[in-house]
Amino acid sequence: MKSSLYKWWISYRYNKWLAHRGYKQWKPRINDDEYSIATMAKMSQDIFQEEIDEIINIANKKLIIKAIYLDDDEINAFASKLGKSNKYDLYIIALNKGIFSGINKYISGNEFESVLDKNFSSLKNIPKKDLYRISMWSISKSIMYHELAHILRGHLEFLIDEKIININDEYIEIKTNDKHSEKSNNIEKISKTEKIRLCENDADVHAARLFSANACTFTKKSNTEKQEEIYLGIYSLIIFSSHILFSIFDQTSYGNESRYPQPVIRSAIYASQFSVEYSKNFPEIEFEKIFNVLLDSVAKSNDYCRNINIPPGKYDVYRKFQEWKVTQMSLMNSFDKVLAKYNLLTPKS
Ligand SMILES: [Zn+2]
Repeated sequence: MKSSLYKWWISYRYNKWLAHRGYKQWKPRINDDEYSIATMAKMSQDIFQEEIDEIINIANKKLIIKAIYLDDDEINAFASKLGKSNKYDLYIIALNKGIFSGINKYISGNEFESVLDKNFSSLKNIPKKDLYRISMWSISKSIMYHELAHILRGHLEFLIDEKIININDEYIEIKTNDKHSEKSNNIEKISKTEKIRLCENDADVHAARLFSANACTFTKKSNTEKQEEIYLGIYSLIIFSSHILFSIFDQTSYGNESRYPQPVIRSAIYASQFSVEYSKNFPEIEFEKIFNVLLDSVAKSNDYCRNINIPPGKYDVYRKFQEWKVTQMSLMNSFDKVLAKYNLLTPKS
């Protein structure tokens, strides 16, 4: 049990670390408007912090991970290791305010409402404003879980050991491009850029796993007789919305290689993990059927992005995802073994 004095000390450490780097915190408060950006951001943060604490508690690890917001309009986030305090490893996840204020314009307005009417008929009894909130949360949570995966999967320690980042450095997601790098299927021989790319692929897979496992916060309220349809509708909306984020964050329009999988692949990774989670709730419904519905939601989101001038290309989602599996899977399995000694959720043997 951590004493309140210790909690105060930890808080001080985090604030000092942020101030030293010139970051200004954004501390949204819940207000009378439950759909305001401040209310949504604060609730999203509180729920996420509870989930982090629960995961750490179950893993029985001496870790503290704090999720905070920064007063910055750019749509971006980072994870960092601050160091140690009294045997606790201290980590931070920082999300910019821009995730809420900047994304807002893509998921509000008539065009988005007509998309909801057209594609999410099973959710027609849920007020539009609540669907908007689910979209906003899906986007912020995608980023939160992605950063959490960087920490829990041990990417930061791995990158520190590989001398790609220094301890205490922020590992910032980047929207600019990486240089082209030599590709190799041998994990021992891959370049620094490829190591970063592996961390990003791995973060997406595990973010999808963490997010889908916790997605019941969105769905548990909808207690109707058509539960399986509501779940599928909400999962489709989560994937639709997350894909908008991935498209906004796409790097391919910079004409160079991206450290992230293509937006449709990132979303297909989500579709795959959410289908697994769906099968746990409704084992009588065929996995492939669910997976196809969710992939279809990726394709619809891709069309929507094109209509609102976010520039993704035209992809056959299913084919792209199969290509990704063929080219990435064996390398990612080898990477999984490399990460075993860093992974914060596996007990050390
Ligand atoms: Zn990342």
